[in-house]
Amino acid sequence: MLNLRLETFGMKILAAFRLCLLCLFIGYLGIGCKQSSKEKVFTHSSSLRIVATTGIVGDAVKNIVLNKAEVNVLMGPGVDPHLYKASQKDLELLSKADVIFYNGLHLEGKMAEVLEKLKKQKKIVAIAEAIPVNKLIKVGENENLYDPHVWMDVSLWKYAVIECARVLQSIDTSNAAFYKQNLDNYLQALDSLDAYIETEIAKIPSIPRVLITAHDAFSYFSRRYHIEVKSLQGISTVAEFGLRDITNLVDFIVARKIKAVFMESFIPERSIRAVIEGCKAKNHEVKLGGVLFTDALGAEGTPEGTYIGMLKANVKTITDGLR
Ligand SMILES: [Zn+2]
Repeated sequence: MLNLRLETFGMKILAAFRLCLLCLFIGYLGIGCKQSSKEKVFTHSSSLRIVATTGIVGDAVKNIVLNKAEVNVLMGPGVDPHLYKASQKDLELLSKADVIFYNGLHLEGKMAEVLEKLKKQKKIVAIAEAIPVNKLIKVGENENLYDPHVWMDVSLWKYAVIECARVLQSIDTSNAAFYKQNLDNYLQALDSLDAYIETEIAKIPSIPRVLITAHDAFSYFSRRYHIEVKSLQGISTVAEFGLRDITNLVDFIVARKIKAVFMESFIPERSIRAVIEGCKAKNHEVKLGGVLFTDALGAEGTPEGTYIGMLKANVKTITDGLR
């Protein structure tokens, strides 16, 4: 009798033990499901949402992330970054972004307030400001004012691209190796571009190797690739040019017997047309050498729609125009 009771008691314990195991197993399955759904959400949200201000900055970012992130560029072809103000749609994109890249050095002058406010909420990176200060060209007497058109010297733009990759590697660690590989490949392409520009510009006869443009975007290009530059406006398009600027430039062109002047893709034609007309009035024929891409890329899908393509197109236009 006692044996039978003990046996029944033992079976009850065994049944309870099995039930516990079953509960544990179901529990484990439940946790497992939750974990996998969590991972899915994480994978989804880990696709970075990036906003870049100019097409040139956006191109640097795209060369690092390739297809691993969503990159929105605020300023398309033909847009002047010196005058650009953020639209309502831009503000929405900026507020949803995980990281924002911009040129800095006051290029996006009219967006300064918006970017300053966003700095308190998220990661915002001025990639041109990663370039060592001693390599920048100072403007006027102001201690902290530098020419922002750093991308015109490929060796300087490499610092900006490296900064892009460094930031992306630090905030998206799972893709860090991928970004590093893309950076290495792109830096090689930039080295080739740098050498190509130097070789091509050197082919232009040294008299007169002068590049005349509407606004002063070529100081870095001039220093790196040994070509003299002169422009109608200063480093920003914000300040309007006057009659005196036109007269001074016309006198310079006539005195140096310069044969071609160049337009810029985002600046109205009338500025450089006024110079051509002024030369004509002084019996000096100067032709329009073509259109240069300075602060904005060309249309998407065209060779000028990328940074490398844009600089190559400029070199061809300059060498054809001045030869
Ligand atoms: Zn500019």
